[in-house]
Amino acid sequence: MTSADPMAVERVNNDDSIMTEVNDAITTAATTATDDAAVTTTSTSTGTSTTTNAVTPSKKTQQQQQGEEVFSPELLKIYYDRLFPYSLLCKWLSYDPSFAFDDKTNKTVGEKKIFSRREFSFTLETPSREEIYIRYQSFSDLEGLKSAVTRQKPRKIDIGAVFSHPPKDKNAYVSSSSNKNTGFRPVQRELVFDIDLTDYDDVRKCGCQNAKICRTCWTFMTAALKVLDQGLREDFGFQHIAWFYSGRRGIHAWVCDEEARNLSDEARSAVANYFEISLTEGLLGNRYGNNSSGTVHPMLTRAYDVLEPYFCRYVLPDKVEVGGGYNNNNSNDDSSASEMIGGHKLLADRDSWEKHVLDTLPAVAKESVGKRLKEKWSNPRELNDPSPVDKWNTLLRHLRVKFKFPQSWPSSSSSYDDDDEDENSNSNKNNNKRSKASSSSLDSETLKVWMWPMEIVFKYTYPRLDINVSKMQNHLLKSPFCVHPKTGRVCVPIDPDAMDINNDFNPFAVPTIAQLATELNEYHKNNTTSNNNDDVDEEEGDDGNENNENDTRKKTKKIVVPQHEWEKTSLKGYFEIFEKKFLQPLEKEWRREQRDLAEQQAAIRGDF
Ligand SMILES: [Zn+2]
Repeated sequence: MTSADPMAVERVNNDDSIMTEVNDAITTAATTATDDAAVTTTSTSTGTSTTTNAVTPSKKTQQQQQGEEVFSPELLKIYYDRLFPYSLLCKWLSYDPSFAFDDKTNKTVGEKKIFSRREFSFTLETPSREEIYIRYQSFSDLEGLKSAVTRQKPRKIDIGAVFSHPPKDKNAYVSSSSNKNTGFRPVQRELVFDIDLTDYDDVRKCGCQNAKICRTCWTFMTAALKVLDQGLREDFGFQHIAWFYSGRRGIHAWVCDEEARNLSDEARSAVANYFEISLTEGLLGNRYGNNSSGTVHPMLTRAYDVLEPYFCRYVLPDKVEVGGGYNNNNSNDDSSASEMIGGHKLLADRDSWEKHVLDTLPAVAKESVGKRLKEKWSNPRELNDPSPVDKWNTLLRHLRVKFKFPQSWPSSSSSYDDDDEDENSNSNKNNNKRSKASSSSLDSETLKVWMWPMEIVFKYTYPRLDINVSKMQNHLLKSPFCVHPKTGRVCVPIDPDAMDINNDFNPFAVPTIAQLATELNEYHKNNTTSNNNDDVDEEEGDDGNENNENDTRKKTKKIVVPQHEWEKTSLKGYFEIFEKKFLQPLEKEWRREQRDLAEQQAAIRGDF
C-alpha cells in the first residue's frame, strides 16, 4: 500500500502549463522561467516542497494543441496498463538481478531493500483539472508501484533518492530522531545530469526558442551527450551511464555506478563543476587555461575533437543531410530515412560570417586575417564560392600560418613545429613541446588568437548543464519511460554508441502514446486475423517441424511469443537497447561482486 504523505501534497492552480515541466529538473534555486516552467523550491531533506507558478501564457500554442491530440487520460491509461516497462525500471532501481517479477506467480522475487527505500513522486490531475504533486511515496515491490501507477495514472513520475528508511514512513523517523545519522535522510542516488535546449537559445540560429525544437538544434543535444559521456567514462571511470530523451526538449543522464550513487553532495557538485566552462573571460581566463603558459586542460582539446565535427557539419552550413537515427527496429517505420535539415548558417551568408565569426576574432587577427577574408569572401568575382566548411578550414589555415599555431592545433593531436625541433620527432612529446614553446615566446594577444577557434566551437556546441540538478542527492528527476504531457512522447533510452556525426537520434521519431495505442491495436488485429494464436510473432525458420509431415513448404513458422506488450510496438527497439547495453552489464557486474564477496568470506572462514 502506498501512503501519501499529506504534508507533501499540494495543490496548484490549474493552468495547463504549470506543473508539466515543474520537475523536469527541480532546482533548489529559482529556475529560469520559460513559457511553461514554474519556479519550484524543494527543501533539502525532510521538508515539503512548495511550488509557485511563473507567469504563463493563457493562449495555447500550436504545440500545446498538438499535445492534446497525443496525450489524454485515456491514452495514459493504456500506456500504464499495458506498455509501461515496470520490470525494467524495477530491475534497474533495485540494483539486484535477482529482483524480478515472476509472471507465473504474479509476485516480485529477490532483494527489495534498495527499491523499497526509493522515493517516487507523482503529479496527479484531479477531475477539476487541478494538479497535485505528491512526494515521498515508496513501494515495497514492483506490484505496489504498478498498482499505484495504474490506479492513480500520474501525469508525471519523478524519481528521487534512496533513503535511510522507506520514504512513505518518513514522518515516523523525522519526528523520532533529530540525529543526522539515524534520522530520515537520503543515502544514495544516481549522479544525474540534465541538458535542455532552452539553455541554448542564444545560439539557436534555426529560429527555435524556449520549448520549440527542431532537428537542427537537436544536434546540440547529441554533441553535448558525446562530450559528457566521454568525460564521465574517461576522466571519472564511470561505466554504467543511462541516457534518456526527456520527451520534449532535452536529455537526461543517470550515472549508476555504485561509486556515483554514493557520492556526497559536495562530490556531486565537484563532478558537475568539472564539466562547466566559462567563456566570458576566454578559455585562458578561467581555471582550465594557463595564461602564462598558454596551455589548456587536455579535457578541452579532447572535447574540441568531438565537437568540431558537429560544429562544421551542423553549425556552419545552411542545410545538411542527416540520417534518421538508429531509432528502432520496426521495419515499417520510414523515420530512419535521411533528410535535409537546416543548419545554423554561421558561415553560409555574409551577415553571419561577418558578425558571428570574423568580427569575433581577437583584434590582432581581425585586422589582418579577418579583414582579408571578409574581402575575399565578399568578392562577387571570386570564381569558386567556397562552402561554409571550406571557409572554416581556410580561416584556420590563415590563423595557423600567421600566428604560428602548433600543427593541427587546437586538436588534442596537435604538435608545435619549432625550428629547433626535429620535424620527425615523436608526436607523443607534443604537449610538452607546446607548453615549453608557448611559455617562452608568445604574447598574450597571440595566445588569444590561439584560443579563438576552440572558444567559438565551444560557444555553440559545448554542453550547457542545468547544474543544480546534479548537485544534490535529494533532487528529483523525471522518471525514464514516463510520458511527456505536452508531446505525448515516451522518455525513451538513447544509445550513445548508435549515434554518430551522420546519424543522429531523432526526437520526432519517438512514439507518442497515441501512436503506441494504434500500433498495439494493429498488432492484435493482424495476429488475430492471420492465425488463431492471438499473441505471437512469427519468424521464418528452417528447422523441421515433425508435426507437419505433409507440409510441403520448405520454411516453417517458428512462434515467438512476446513477453511484454511493449514488444509489439515501436518501443521494442528502444527498450531492448536499454536492456542489452545498460541493464545486462550492470547485472553482470553485480553478480561478479557478489561472487567475489562470497569467495572472500569463504577464504576468511577457511572454507574453500
Ligand atoms: Zn531548432
